[in-house]
Amino acid sequence: MLRLFRRDTPPSSPAHDRLDVAHEGRTYSVSLKRVTGARRFTLRVRAATRDVVLTMPSRGSMSAARDFAQRYAAWIAARLHRLPQPIPFRNGSIIPIRGDDHLIVHTEATRGGIEVNAIKVGDSMSRMLQVSCGEDYVPRRVGDYLKREAKHDLEAAVRHHTKQLGFAARRVTVRDTTSRWGSCSASGSLNFSWRLVMAPAFVLDYLAAHEVAHLVHMNHSDKFWELTRQLAPSTDRAETWLKAHGTALHRFGAEPTESLSASRTKVR
Ligand SMILES: [Zn+2]
Repeated sequence: MLRLFRRDTPPSSPAHDRLDVAHEGRTYSVSLKRVTGARRFTLRVRAATRDVVLTMPSRGSMSAARDFAQRYAAWIAARLHRLPQPIPFRNGSIIPIRGDDHLIVHTEATRGGIEVNAIKVGDSMSRMLQVSCGEDYVPRRVGDYLKREAKHDLEAAVRHHTKQLGFAARRVTVRDTTSRWGSCSASGSLNFSWRLVMAPAFVLDYLAAHEVAHLVHMNHSDKFWELTRQLAPSTDRAETWLKAHGTALHRFGAEPTESLSASRTKVR
């Protein structure tokens, strides 16, 4: 498995709750995590999920949590606004697919469809993702398209690597993971973040090789890395790319912070 962040995300607690804090006319949604053994309140702004988590003692009171979060409202606002601007899947947004920029072009239509087109602009090629559907469905259509493409690319890459080793993976699934790019279960199923389809192809290929190598070595031993590098010669380049650009892939498809907190408040 390859984690997005060096630090492990804490185990999620079953008791989930949220509260809102206000700062300069804006409302920010904070999710509460009660943790047995926690001695104090701790606030975290997570870049990948663009959300705020308040960890608190299991017996801490809601009013104490609210006071604490409100006291740090300015800090929360500053941290959220310092995150890279989200780029929603909307008409006019530019998103990377296999490392190349694509302009999302929406056409109003009752019958849905999505296709990639390239046009020559001067000396260079400009790529477009043409989405036909009702406007409200654009984010969903684009997200579904990327997940399909991710699954297709990852299945092909996994097949390619397992073939070298003379076996097959049990199952390949894609999800919107926030703490890992990929993981491998003891039963031989491989799971990946669909966001890898936005990265250059050598990065996705490396992740597939990394998880396939775990089917042989369930650890990060020297033997594991030797096999990974043998399958994916671009291993080191891909690791460097992920460290530099990996987290930024989470900005794509995210809605702006204010509308996010507003919509979360509504669905509570
Ligand atoms: Zn690993």
